[in-house]
Amino acid sequence: MIELAGVRKSFALPDGGRLDAVRDVSLKVRAGDIFGLVGRSGAGKSTLLRLINLLEQPDEGRVTVAGQELTALSKASLRKARQSIGMIFQQFNLLQNATAADNVAFPLRLHGVQGQRDKARIEQRVQECLALVGLADKARSYPAQLSGGQKQRVAIARALASHPQVLLCDEPTSALDAETTDELLATLRDINVRLGVTIVIVTHELPVITSLCRHAAVIEDGRVSELLDVQNLGQPRTRIGQELARLGRQ
Ligand code: ATP
Ligand code: MG
Repeated sequence: MIELAGVRKSFALPDGGRLDAVRDVSLKVRAGDIFGLVGRSGAGKSTLLRLINLLEQPDEGRVTVAGQELTALSKASLRKARQSIGMIFQQFNLLQNATAADNVAFPLRLHGVQGQRDKARIEQRVQECLALVGLADKARSYPAQLSGGQKQRVAIARALASHPQVLLCDEPTSALDAETTDELLATLRDINVRLGVTIVIVTHELPVITSLCRHAAVIEDGRVSELLDVQNLGQPRTRIGQELARLGRQ
């Protein structure tokens, strides 16, 4: 479903040098998988995630999602292809002056529902998506009236509105307490199983990896330092892999 081949990304530094955020990553994520990117702060996890939908343009390498090589597309085709990739963030990134329903409707008003832009179709899809995340009764609430977990659910509903095949999640539970985290992980699991959406999740929280993911990559210094079969960890080489194995045995 997702394939990165020899992907590199560096950023310009104020002193004129370059910082290599992602050095040479080749990675495959199978359709229907829940795949974790785990590593310390600054390892390059968010940059790597943003390379999957080309929010960051790689300096080198190829990115292919759902059979389309994104790195070979024109701007217009890329905009279209991105509709099959949803994304959620640590700080939810909702429009504060819009209700939950209007937040979910926002991408649909831009792009339509499967090409159709009529109002009734959009309203129906908004209701469907809010119901999917258990928030059918919060359609008229503003973000300030919602808990952190509820805000993240609205963000998930918005990300799902255009029927994506892939959902990218950047630290989606880092602003949530433990109990709300568990509820949100259950929602992501449900979306994966019921809708077949492939999920890639960035986190530095190891329990999130062991409870949610089937596969994971340890990211260190802009590289994949280890690939893990999370349900069958064996004897990992990396420190993070070993910590995950310990957690899994508990
Ligand atoms: P965290 O867990 O703290 O979110 P991360 O693993 O997500 O960290 P990235 O945000 O991908 O790390 O950053 C990797 C490196 O690239 C860091 O050294 C960061 O400072 C640098 N970096 C990221 N984005 C930019 C940017 N737009 N301009 C310059 N440097 C950047
Ligand atoms: Mg990050």
